[in-house]
Amino acid sequence: MNKYNEHFLLDTESVKDYVVSKLNYFKPEENIDAQEIGDGNINYVFKVWNPLTGKSIIVKQADKLLRSSGRPLDMYRNRIEAEILKIQRNLAPEYVPEIYFYDENMYVLAMEDISEFKNMRTEMLNGKIFAHFSDNVSTFLADTLIPTTDLFISRSEKKNNVKKFMNPELCDISEDLVFTEPYWDYKKRNIILKENLDFVKENLYDDKVLHFEVAKLRDRFMNYPQALIHGDLHSGSIFANDSGIKIIDPEFAFYGPIGYDSGNVIGNLCMSWVNKEFTDASNQHFIDWIKASILDIMIKLESKITTKLKESTENGLYKYSFKQFYTNSIIEDTYGYAGTEIIRRVVGDSKVKEVTSVEDPVTRIPMERAMIKVGIYLIKNRYNSIDLNDLQKIINVEK
Ligand code: ADP
Ligand code: MG
Repeated sequence: MNKYNEHFLLDTESVKDYVVSKLNYFKPEENIDAQEIGDGNINYVFKVWNPLTGKSIIVKQADKLLRSSGRPLDMYRNRIEAEILKIQRNLAPEYVPEIYFYDENMYVLAMEDISEFKNMRTEMLNGKIFAHFSDNVSTFLADTLIPTTDLFISRSEKKNNVKKFMNPELCDISEDLVFTEPYWDYKKRNIILKENLDFVKENLYDDKVLHFEVAKLRDRFMNYPQALIHGDLHSGSIFANDSGIKIIDPEFAFYGPIGYDSGNVIGNLCMSWVNKEFTDASNQHFIDWIKASILDIMIKLESKITTKLKESTENGLYKYSFKQFYTNSIIEDTYGYAGTEIIRRVVGDSKVKEVTSVEDPVTRIPMERAMIKVGIYLIKNRYNSIDLNDLQKIINVEK
């Protein structure tokens, strides 16, 4: 099929022909519908289905230009996404959609439709709780991350993977938006309520101790190829229903610190928690669940990593203290990166709905302060024990 030899952007008409003639997923005589369902600002996502049989497929296509700003962005990210989804699907089949097809000319990824699961950020904003979440997400993290480390794969395979998953342009975005600009607004892209300008100046731009800690986290993000991480594990990349979770959208994947993924999960749960404290404080059911989940994820993650590491390398050097040290440092990283995730989502330009949906400044101003303070506490106290009661006090002070 010559017409698909070179990249062009699909639309709801051409995508139907594509899934029939290129993917042979539907027969030419079938009546099919297509809809663009992307909600991100980067790629195009189509759902194509036969309304009679219910059979469906998801087609995700990358564009050379970012949807939001029109800026060019490395297309190799699309191959990385296809490759890591296949790896994660092998390691944790329950949690990752099946990849049917990857087209390197069209930059198209065709995968299983997981529409039965709903965007977890939106669900939590609506007050929905998922009792199984901490168990499922901790399994996903331990099962997809630990087996990609040097403690499981050979030195040569590891180095080949590090090379294959170099994702410089997407990492560059995180290095600026997560680890630099919230503390040093050198590109003038931060978006801050005028009432919080002085607060941000004092607590983020002028705190030298915080800068040192964030610099260490940034340096570790850039120079610690520990595991093949998802790289963007916020609650909009997690889909959930009463039976379980699915994880999608790993186009920021690269070899980096494990705690960056677990930290994104914890950071986003913290934002959801703080949001509810300010917008629906009487919903104790939700607040109890989310606090318990944060604690439980940390406990389960530690124990699942410890168990997994028992099967790892026979290298005698690593046998005793090292594995405990390794696990401890993942926990410290998790808290640190949870903190940087929260802060960048409040002051940076990629805000989350937990922030933007709160329109009344009387609520939003103190809520943002509480989130920032929670982030700072997590970063500064990550080497000591993190106490949810301390976080509750921080939130209550701003209320
Ligand atoms: P982007 O890279 O643009 O952020 P995502 O991978 O997050 O794209 O997908 C955008 C949206 O498309 C998701 O929020 C989800 O609603 C939908 N989507 C993506 N993949 C699937 C899938 N496999 N099944 C069902 N819906 C999907
Ligand atoms: Mg997305």
